[in-house]
Amino acid sequence: MRPVVVPFFISHLGCPHRCIFCDQEKISGSRTALPDTQAILDKIEEFRASAPGRQLEVAFYGGSFTALPEEVQLKLLGAVQPYLAGGTVTSLRISTRPDAVDHAAGSLLKRMGVGTVELGVQSMNDEVLRLAGRGHGGRDSEQALATLKELGFRVGVQLMPGLPGDTLERSVASLKRVLQDKPSFLRIYPTVVVAGTELAELYRHGRYRPLALGEAVTWCKELLKLARQAGVPVVRLGLQPTEELETPGVILAGPFHPAFGQLVESEICFEVMASLLEGATPGSEVGFRAAPGRTSDLVGQRRCNLRRLAERFEVRILKVREDDTLGRDVIVLEGPHGERFRSLADR
Ligand code: SF4
Repeated sequence: MRPVVVPFFISHLGCPHRCIFCDQEKISGSRTALPDTQAILDKIEEFRASAPGRQLEVAFYGGSFTALPEEVQLKLLGAVQPYLAGGTVTSLRISTRPDAVDHAAGSLLKRMGVGTVELGVQSMNDEVLRLAGRGHGGRDSEQALATLKELGFRVGVQLMPGLPGDTLERSVASLKRVLQDKPSFLRIYPTVVVAGTELAELYRHGRYRPLALGEAVTWCKELLKLARQAGVPVVRLGLQPTEELETPGVILAGPFHPAFGQLVESEICFEVMASLLEGATPGSEVGFRAAPGRTSDLVGQRRCNLRRLAERFEVRILKVREDDTLGRDVIVLEGPHGERFRSLADR
């Protein structure tokens, strides 16, 4: 069973930059303030009481943890040490910027029991990074990844397709470069325009056009397929909906959707179902089977996958049903001439 995450958002703290898209407070839904020791202990106790017997993971999200003064890092991580030693907290994770990672910073985290580091890479393309005001290049991300892996961390990489100057080709190339360094997992957040950021100004003056929702789904579908082929899990696709983000006027434009990941999964299922239907006799009656929990991905939002398939292949789709003997990535077509199957991982 996965540990329960005890999250602390240290939005923008420690960060020496202001990327053009960044308003960490709105994105995380949390006000900028460092938790003091008592606040950390109280929250861990609260989670321990609400999830008895479950393992806990303490996560310091947002900001650039390793850019905080060393004494602050030690204070935050130090507060968790008794729980780590006692086994209540079984893991610790932080997120940071690539150029705030070197051997000394990694060694401090290691000494304090941090197991996972998430790197805000966003893109590996130097032009995209420059336009986003990141203040570092792709080479810094490569070095940070290599250093953290050498020190034995689980390393997560965050990417933001759709930044100014980005193209599908650049996003794909960024991911391929990241995959060469074999991160442990990925988070992919298509760029949205948050009020109050420099990106919002560019957008307002017509100097930035965010990806449309359909475009972002298409880009992320390609990225997800590549990551799957490389065996690297994508643990999040699209920003987590929060009350703050969903407040009118906070997201000005861009491909924000509360179920963005499902839109992408559904589009991959559509591709696979279409490939299974190639050569189907017009007018024939067919059905699909997939693992439990996959039906909505196959059917699509408002049944759009079934509608598009029926129109394109002129078939009648009689049923989509669950089959607990199938692996999560397999789709089976039941047609008049028997069954065919294909894996989502093949696409
Ligand atoms: S590095 Fe992260 S916290 Fe700092 S400005 Fe950029 S996105 Fe925001």
